[in-house]
Amino acid sequence: MNTEQWIARSDKVIMKTYGRYPIVPVRGQGCELWDVDGKRYLDFLAGVAVNNLGHCHPQVVKAIQEQAATLIHCSNYYQIPQQIELAELLCAHSFADQAFFCNSGAEANEAAIKLARKYSREKYGLEHYQIITAAESFHGRTMATVSATGQEKVQRFFDPLLHGFHHVPFNDIAALEAAINPHTCAVMLEPIQGEGGIKVPSIEYMRAVRELCDRRELLLIFDEVQTGLGRTGKLFAHEHFGIAPDIMTLAKALAGGAPIGAMLARAEIAESFNPGTHGSTFGGNPLMTTAALAAMKTLLGDGILENAVKMGAYLTGELKKLQSRYQIVEEVRGIGLMIGMGLSIPGGDIVKKGHERGLLLNVTHDTVLRFVPPLIVTQAEIDEMIAILDGILKEI
Ligand code: PMP
Repeated sequence: MNTEQWIARSDKVIMKTYGRYPIVPVRGQGCELWDVDGKRYLDFLAGVAVNNLGHCHPQVVKAIQEQAATLIHCSNYYQIPQQIELAELLCAHSFADQAFFCNSGAEANEAAIKLARKYSREKYGLEHYQIITAAESFHGRTMATVSATGQEKVQRFFDPLLHGFHHVPFNDIAALEAAINPHTCAVMLEPIQGEGGIKVPSIEYMRAVRELCDRRELLLIFDEVQTGLGRTGKLFAHEHFGIAPDIMTLAKALAGGAPIGAMLARAEIAESFNPGTHGSTFGGNPLMTTAALAAMKTLLGDGILENAVKMGAYLTGELKKLQSRYQIVEEVRGIGLMIGMGLSIPGGDIVKKGHERGLLLNVTHDTVLRFVPPLIVTQAEIDEMIAILDGILKEI
């Protein structure tokens, strides 16, 4: 069966929950993917910042294969040693003292919201439950995370939404301060907005947010589901701003392409969870925590962060050269290998032409081309991508 036949078969039985590009990938290696027809693609989307180590990194594959033959799942018991080592590693490299593992970014954010409310209510009183998030933010597709998300198109048809979320413009400290009221318990932000169009806030804003949360006794939650785990050239994007949150969520890249989520917090806050408060059948299972441990060790050990910094600078420079040559390119922005190219027109056609020519990209916020290749991307692969993109821009 070819691509067309598979798509026709899929459309009958798979719900149309999100916009799918008409490609049927069947194999991946490093920065390359192949589809069911044998066509090769250069992958500059990497599963939207999931395949940070490239597709099928040998260390991750080996860990999964070995663990799959040993123990896949067993909940309600202590999970040794992978889950514990993974938590220790994440805590050793962050502000956090304790971790909760789940299966996705949305689930990690759900856990963060529940922890923030429980901790704040226990400490300051029952009236402390409101959470301020940013306009244009994206936090997931479950009801609490849809309510936290600042995009009307994500929320439409799903009201009544959860009570207790306020949205304020991103990168605007006065608006944030004005939104605080006696019910507020936390501020929840992406350090760089991903689905909102690769929006990087100022250092001053981020530091002022931290200071404001301290002064008003609010928890600061960073959703690093898209920005975390080396994407920006540092392990966590908030490190660029010289501040740390009280709670952080991770998912996407954590297990090298396999599904896992994590919510991390400082001990004082984490200890407000106790047996019965929260849980997940598959959360922290041996298979995924083994994959994540292998992915984390690879990420920290193989010069990958350094490559992300170097290749991020190179890619940004090459994209800026295109900006100087093509009027429709308005801006190139981002940090490390999380880069957006703001266009004066919708980017859908460019993405489509890219697919025809064997390049995978996508568009976020309608007019922003998103470049989030694997962090192991080489200069030769960037050159190949730029040549394809140059050809497309010339035609448009
Ligand atoms: N938070 C952010 C910042 C995201 O970018 C995403 C996914 N795009 C999510 C949460 C949701 O993650 P998941 O799809 O794993 O639930």
